[in-house]
Amino acid sequence: MNDPETKLTADVCIMGAGPVGGSLACRLAEAGVSTVVVDRAALPPMEHPAFDGRAYAISAGSRRLLDESGLWAKLPEPAQEIREIRVSDGKVGRPASRLFLHFDHLELGPDTGPFGWMVEARGLRIALNGHMPTLPSLRVLAPAEASVERRDDGVTVRIAGGPEIACRVVIAAEGRNSPLREEAGIPVTRLPYGQTGMVFAISHEHPHHGIALEHFLPAGPFALLPMAPSADALAGGAPNVSAIVWTEQQAVAKRMMALDDARFEREVARRLGDHLGRIQLVGRRWSYPLSAMLAHRYIDTRLALAGDAAHGIHPISGQGLNLGFRDAIVLADLMIEAVRFGGDPGDPVLLTRYQRARRPDNMMMLGMTDGLDRLFSSDNRLLRLARDVGIAAVHRMPPLKRLFMRQAMGV
Ligand SMILES: Cc1cc2nc3c(=O)[nH]c(=O)nc-3n(C[C@H](O)[C@H](O)[C@H](O)COP(=O)(O)OP(=O)(O)OC[C@H]3O[C@@H](n4cnc5c(N)ncnc54)[C@H](O)[C@@H]3O)c2cc1C
Repeated sequence: MNDPETKLTADVCIMGAGPVGGSLACRLAEAGVSTVVVDRAALPPMEHPAFDGRAYAISAGSRRLLDESGLWAKLPEPAQEIREIRVSDGKVGRPASRLFLHFDHLELGPDTGPFGWMVEARGLRIALNGHMPTLPSLRVLAPAEASVERRDDGVTVRIAGGPEIACRVVIAAEGRNSPLREEAGIPVTRLPYGQTGMVFAISHEHPHHGIALEHFLPAGPFALLPMAPSADALAGGAPNVSAIVWTEQQAVAKRMMALDDARFEREVARRLGDHLGRIQLVGRRWSYPLSAMLAHRYIDTRLALAGDAAHGIHPISGQGLNLGFRDAIVLADLMIEAVRFGGDPGDPVLLTRYQRARRPDNMMMLGMTDGLDRLFSSDNRLLRLARDVGIAAVHRMPPLKRLFMRQAMGV
């Protein structure tokens, strides 16, 4: 990158310094590709515990991106390994069904790593905000409003009251309501679920042993995800902490969110059972309306969509960000190679290769998570029978079980 402050040149400009845009920016800059990342919002407030309550299940495939972009080493707290996954179904207030699935990463071999790692959204923001300014090939502009002009031969990004950036390609990583996607006239299919995801953390009496639990209840999945011990979560620290993503119909979720902490904890315990002993809420609760979304195209002239700007899925399998990370891995690999050999990172052939590599994979995951939600969030007797038969089949077919495990690991 170069020049007086009014004119910058770069290979790539990324709009959105969220987990996907920020990680892609770091990966490109680590490889020497000159990159500018622009975010409409100020970045430091996103590190605050009250900004985002989400915790991400990072698959082994996504870990590669975080390693190569220098972010894994900058996480403020060690990530918690997910060593086992248990899947069960049942009803509120009753023990889980006898037929349940149990995945242990050791079934894939003694040298196989864990299924994934739990990382707080806030921890990832701290790593990004700490690492981005240290990279010589990366320029961060935030908070900043930008306008983008795309032509066949290049892109000009104009920052209000700031510099003008000449680059070869622009990446839309501004999340679900991507203005660049809309400006390009790319249609979107949306699938509202009428459900709300309630997200919060609990401290519990007994250790979780790195076990994640997906408990399917008639209103939607209730997921328990093991977190690393927290020194500042409760007075005196909290050695045993888990994150919960609890899906409910919108009206019920609204009622639950209005309960005081003691009543809310009782409702959580009715769904969770007593295997973790006494539980206590840690910090505040968040709620997110749930919907799926898929852009009909991921590319346009010198434009590529990545992460939630291109797709959104039900959080049932905790894979939303992992899909965005896979977009970033493919884009980074293609663009680093192009720049290294004197090519054009905005070349239409390169962008078409990106779309071909990513859109079918994301569509498959959208279909799978949608199907799982419909199959399990139902009290229909036939559907209950179908899923019990399915679960029994997975038990009897070790290769099918191993396939599921590899898919969960993103390998
Ligand atoms: C309840 C819930 C639980 C989830 N749990 C998981 C999980 O366990 N695992 C998982 O993998 N995924 C999970 N997800 C999905 C995950 O949160 C998203 O996939 C992820 O946040 C997408 O990252 P992103 O960088 O694409 O977009 P975002 O996180 O939305 O970031 C977009 C960035 O762009 C910036 N921006 C917005 N507009 C502009 C603009 N006009 N110009 C410049 N910048 C702009 C924003 O300030 C922001 O920094 C969950 C989602 C929900 C709703």
